[in-house]
Amino acid sequence: MSTTVLPVTTAASAGGADTLAINEIFYSIQGESTFAGQPCIFVRLTGCDLRCTYCDTEYAFYEGTRRSFDEIIAEVARHPCRLVEITGGEPLLQKRVHPLMARLCDLGYTVLIETSGAHDIGPVDSRVHRIMDLKTPGSGECARNRLANLDLLGPRDEVKFVIGSAEDYDWAADQVRAGIPGWADRVNAILFSPVFGKMTPLELATRVLADGLPHVRMQLQMHKLIWEPNQRGV
Ligand code: SF4
Repeated sequence: MSTTVLPVTTAASAGGADTLAINEIFYSIQGESTFAGQPCIFVRLTGCDLRCTYCDTEYAFYEGTRRSFDEIIAEVARHPCRLVEITGGEPLLQKRVHPLMARLCDLGYTVLIETSGAHDIGPVDSRVHRIMDLKTPGSGECARNRLANLDLLGPRDEVKFVIGSAEDYDWAADQVRAGIPGWADRVNAILFSPVFGKMTPLELATRVLADGLPHVRMQLQMHKLIWEPNQRGV
């Protein structure tokens, strides 16, 4: 499949009714969330309106091809796996992502969506597990957190903090404390993840152990430990 560079407006909003701008579809080990370690098919959508300082998928900002739902589902079905993650970029920028997720759920797949948290998660099919970032100050995109999403979180959902400094850690811990009682008690997991190459796992582990915050689960990006950290399609 050849890859074209799509203008971001095309990637995010144009195209036929049952098509999406797709950066890549691949089969790998899920590296994050409570699903970490499971084989998973990743559908990466083109386009993102944020520019996080630590972003490791900048190639998804513009590159991709427009593909029909039938093509996407046929490629997903080639793999011996029933777990699918919709990711990006920012997958919620393309509104047709919602009927695609509904079709995958109808077909019996367990569907995850990983989102920046900057857009309304309300329209996501209730069968989908939403893994939503709360952007820390070090991301440079903290002001984009759509805080109204916190009220929408439920027991299927997971909230992820990507932490690159002591300031980020303290900010994340404050958010969790402020979310009890409330969203922090309702969600399935609160994930604390170090920025790869910036905060060591030991430093984050030391802080998590010292604080003993309820519901917090430290995670490492498993795929970056298995394969080369910059390798694509894993
Ligand atoms: S939201 Fe995700 S894809 Fe977009 S810039 Fe941030 S890390 Fe990269």
